[in-house]
Amino acid sequence: MSGETFMGVPREKIDWSPRIDYNKCNDCMECVKFCPHKVYEVREEGGQRLVVKNPENCVVFCRACGKACGVDAISFPNKSETTAHIKQVRKEMEANE
Ligand code: SF4
Ligand code: SF4
Repeated sequence: MSGETFMGVPREKIDWSPRIDYNKCNDCMECVKFCPHKVYEVREEGGQRLVVKNPENCVVFCRACGKACGVDAISFPNKSETTAHIKQVRKEMEANE
């Protein structure tokens, strides 16, 4: 979704979304069913495959679907590094105002 901001920073400048370990993922689709934000999509490629289609729809700092995954295939970026990045971007934006 364009035009959204988080902590005053455009959402597209924040790298927060689920990372899928395909060595663990068994395509059970529990995460797809769990998340209401259309982050995931199911592709039909000779069988069903989960993809992170809309990473910017993911709610910044949400990790909820990770708990829904029974095989622990979902991970997220480091929260404090992401917070530091957001603050840095905001500082640069303020300097350019
Ligand atoms: S972390 Fe939250 S918002 Fe992001 S994909 Fe998972 S459930 Fe959806
Ligand atoms: S819940 Fe886990 S195993 Fe199931 S589709 Fe999602 S990432 Fe894959």
